[in-house]
Amino acid sequence: MQLKTILNRVQKYKSFIYTSIKLVEQTKEPELEIELQARKNSQPICSCCGHKRTGYDRLPLRRFEFIPMWGIKVFFLYAPRRVDCQVCGIRVEQMPWVQGKHRLTESYAWYLAGWAKRLSWKEVAEAFHTSWDHVFHSVEMAVSWGREHQDLSGIGAIGIDEIQWQKGHRYLTLVYQIDKNCKRLLWIGKKRKVKTLLGFFRWFGKERTMELRYICSDMWRPYLKVIAKKAGHAIHILDRFHIMMHLSKAIDKVRAEEVRELHEKGYEPMLTKTRWLLLKRPENLTVHQETKLKDLLQYNLRSIRSYLLKEEFQLFWAYQSPYWAGQFMDKWCTKTMRSKIEPMKKVARMLRKHRPLLLNWFQAKKQFSSGIVEGFNNKAKLTTRKAYGFRTFYAAQIALYHTLGALPVPETTHEFF
Ligand SMILES: [Zn+2]
Repeated sequence: MQLKTILNRVQKYKSFIYTSIKLVEQTKEPELEIELQARKNSQPICSCCGHKRTGYDRLPLRRFEFIPMWGIKVFFLYAPRRVDCQVCGIRVEQMPWVQGKHRLTESYAWYLAGWAKRLSWKEVAEAFHTSWDHVFHSVEMAVSWGREHQDLSGIGAIGIDEIQWQKGHRYLTLVYQIDKNCKRLLWIGKKRKVKTLLGFFRWFGKERTMELRYICSDMWRPYLKVIAKKAGHAIHILDRFHIMMHLSKAIDKVRAEEVRELHEKGYEPMLTKTRWLLLKRPENLTVHQETKLKDLLQYNLRSIRSYLLKEEFQLFWAYQSPYWAGQFMDKWCTKTMRSKIEPMKKVARMLRKHRPLLLNWFQAKKQFSSGIVEGFNNKAKLTTRKAYGFRTFYAAQIALYHTLGALPVPETTHEFF
């Protein structure tokens, strides 16, 4: 069987033919060179306007990298024609295997982009003996194609979240679709200001916004403000993940202060290495951690009292009726306000202030999966952490859309992996 037969099976172009295939041995690594020619009498297409035009001249041979085979690099060789276009002037012809001025064929770019969903960009570059830049441009192409072709109809529920990225307090605002049947990252914005979220609604458009029924978010004031202004008709929910995160942060603070205090007073360091004991759910503790927690519970420490308050608050989410949930919350807040533990009191005050939004949870909790924002948050953090090369917002954005955007890919006749 000839390689040409296989090529025509996996990658056939209507107006071009494969003429010769040659294994080149003189380079450090062997390479397969595949020459292409335009079919006789075929007219070149202007790359600018997409119309058939008369030929003008021919450029020197160019190399385009194709999907490697059996560890051997594969190149398409083709001398592009130029057209004399009455609209665009003298232009290079359109070649179906490549976009714009890229040196990677589209098939290879999709191939690399596919792997970049499973591995870090660096790993993909290493695995295929190619450069980080090539992987980056491939993912960039996949994302821009996918964003152009994605269907944004029927979005009923969104979740708004922020993640910290880079060092210092730099944030990204992420907006997800969290409907039961479709969960994906929709939009990314720099920072977490009023202006940021306004940017989302501008992109999303008035019509789609009117169709939103549920919006999940944190108690972050700029978000609350924008949601009230732009989507007041939707049920706004403060979600479980973010509320519990505030409680965890409060415990962390109480604990850190108490550790310092105990140390200064000369007590034995009973609270060191207890951070995770107090932050984890009891059912997730190891046997050893359980014993240690039992020991700790004997002491009347502020950290322990905070921990118990947080665990008690978990009951809130199990309520069916918003009325009784509200009663529970009020009692919990009163108790917490009497605890004299300032970081916990701060959370209680915040909850009281946003009581109606919190109770919206019970109205909507059956409509979408509540764990979804948390799941996305973890994946987003992992993506930005894994990609050390992302110094720019742009690159981080591309990586996040690629891994979390559930973007469509073009239908091709052959799947290369
Ligand atoms: Zn043209």
